[in-house]
Amino acid sequence: MKINYNFIAALLLIICSCSRPKEIDIDNNKLLENIKILSNDTLEGRYFSTPGNYKAQKFIIRKFKEIGLKTFSQNNYLQTFSYTFKGQKRQDVFPVKKDLTNVPDTTAIGGNILGMLKGQTNKSIVITAHFDHLGIKDGKIFNGADDNASGTAALFTIAEYFKNKPIYHNLIFAAVDAEEIGSLGAEYFLKNFNDKKNIALNINLDMIAHSDYDPELFACGLYHYPDLRKPLKRIKSDKVILLFGHDAPEDKDQSDWTFSSDHRVFHREKIPFIYFGVPDHKDYHRSTDTFATINTDFYIESVKIIIQAIENFDEYLKD
Ligand SMILES: [Zn+2]
Repeated sequence: MKINYNFIAALLLIICSCSRPKEIDIDNNKLLENIKILSNDTLEGRYFSTPGNYKAQKFIIRKFKEIGLKTFSQNNYLQTFSYTFKGQKRQDVFPVKKDLTNVPDTTAIGGNILGMLKGQTNKSIVITAHFDHLGIKDGKIFNGADDNASGTAALFTIAEYFKNKPIYHNLIFAAVDAEEIGSLGAEYFLKNFNDKKNIALNINLDMIAHSDYDPELFACGLYHYPDLRKPLKRIKSDKVILLFGHDAPEDKDQSDWTFSSDHRVFHREKIPFIYFGVPDHKDYHRSTDTFATINTDFYIESVKIIIQAIENFDEYLKD
């Protein structure tokens, strides 16, 4: 009997490449270096409209420039907006409002940083990550390494990955401000986006670097947008378990994250979203959410999973 070795070799290759996780080539060290910088004490917790927050803005602008992202308007990555706290002192906004009588209005200036990779059509996928955090409270810096230096630093790695690849959709990278006080930045971004009907999808990253027990990352949103399941099902990883959920209001076992972060702004406008994140953990909204307490291997793999998701969605959502 004549054995066709070429045929067997080809068959084995197909079987192997189907079961093996896809190799995503990213610079792990650079990713970790960037989350470390964003969660450094010198940024003083990046609270909305404070010097530390402005430092973070400058750093993100420098990164977008280095990567070579396109700007949106007037050669400027920065989209500033003002917000007036009605009768509230800024530092009173978090965590609880104290006595607000006789407190004058204060206007504060915030800023989103926006960059883009041009695709082949007018349709866009908007990738959001908030960079602001809780600032300094009782003398303690809230560094917010997981929340959300992790999502912000991931934006750079994702942009770097897709920079020289053919993409169908425009990829819009939006590092948004003021999530912690009510998604002010994301709201301003969307309100002033003049081509809303061409946003095919929002991918929101908020807390993707912390896993103390099982390495589980959640993709939330399929309850509302079940058509998006297929591209997520194709993702392969042997290090992180990608789970779906936290989006059904009637589910008693899981909290509903539909309105937990900036994706809510898109969802309210009926723009489909997928939110990637982890459940609240021991360091959530504490001064211990630092570079030292994130899980670096989990973080790197989470970013690789998100890259696969974007790749799959870009293909799947083609007309
Ligand atoms: Zn957050």
